[in-house]
Amino acid sequence: MNHPGILYVVATPIGNLKDISQRAIEVLQSVNCIAAEDTRHSKHLLKRLAITVPLISLHEHNEKERANQLIKRLCHGESMALISDAGTPLISDPGYILVKEVKNAGIQVVPIPGPCAAIAALSVAGLPTDRFIFEGFLPSKAKLRKERLEGLQFESRTLIFYEAPHRILASLQAIREVFGSDRQITLARELTKVFETIRSGKIEEIIDWVERDPDQQRGEIIVLVEGVQVIPTIKNSVSSDKILKILLEILPVTQAVEIAFKVTDKKKNELYKRALQLK
Ligand code: SAM
Repeated sequence: MNHPGILYVVATPIGNLKDISQRAIEVLQSVNCIAAEDTRHSKHLLKRLAITVPLISLHEHNEKERANQLIKRLCHGESMALISDAGTPLISDPGYILVKEVKNAGIQVVPIPGPCAAIAALSVAGLPTDRFIFEGFLPSKAKLRKERLEGLQFESRTLIFYEAPHRILASLQAIREVFGSDRQITLARELTKVFETIRSGKIEEIIDWVERDPDQQRGEIIVLVEGVQVIPTIKNSVSSDKILKILLEILPVTQAVEIAFKVTDKKKNELYKRALQLK
């Protein structure tokens, strides 16, 4: 039996073709076939790189079936590359099923890293990068979108969303509705392309700008949202003054302070001073 080939997962540019890596070019030249999300789209890239390796389509509707065919070829010693229309395959793009099945078959999968819109946007957003979460696309239906956002409203890590241009305004409005208008956000549009635009501000300001400038509702867009700064708990959402006033109507100062200390996030001596003022 032949020694099995290798599946290379190759990142390609997200706009500017100069962003292809030297290693990506060498791998694309060397493999027996290239599985691509949209072969017509990828033909242009390969033509520019003077690569004539045959393309085979692999998209969300044929991935399972294609994976079986490609595994057979890999088992016969062929090597192949997986690319998507732009950026890193599998990141909101096809390839997960193929990679999983190829690995399950005991065949080597090698990454050829390169552009990824989410990471490019994060690197310039000016939002915390030590911890972040990638949420891909929000659901297109308003109700599901809101539910997804509600599940994320107490997320403290920086949030990254991909968005389609015709939904950007609705998504920003939903983010404001669920997260409030105080968060810092960054819109990264058309990265690495002629009309690259990166703007940061409070949600309110960004919505206003997108509403007034229809150009901001065109092209490819990423939304990055600051994580929640203070997670509301029963303790920090209770007004200590309010609770003290109620308790002082029925209890002596020391007991009122004791209870207020248990249900608020205030220090005991602060509550005591305040109770004396309110009494
Ligand atoms: N696999 C790609 C990657 O590595 O980033 C993402 C593919 S996903 C189908 C396409 C989405 O990625 C777009 O709707 C947009 O949200 C984002 N995107 C891709 N290229 C972009 C660019 N040049 N500028 C801003 N966003 C981009």
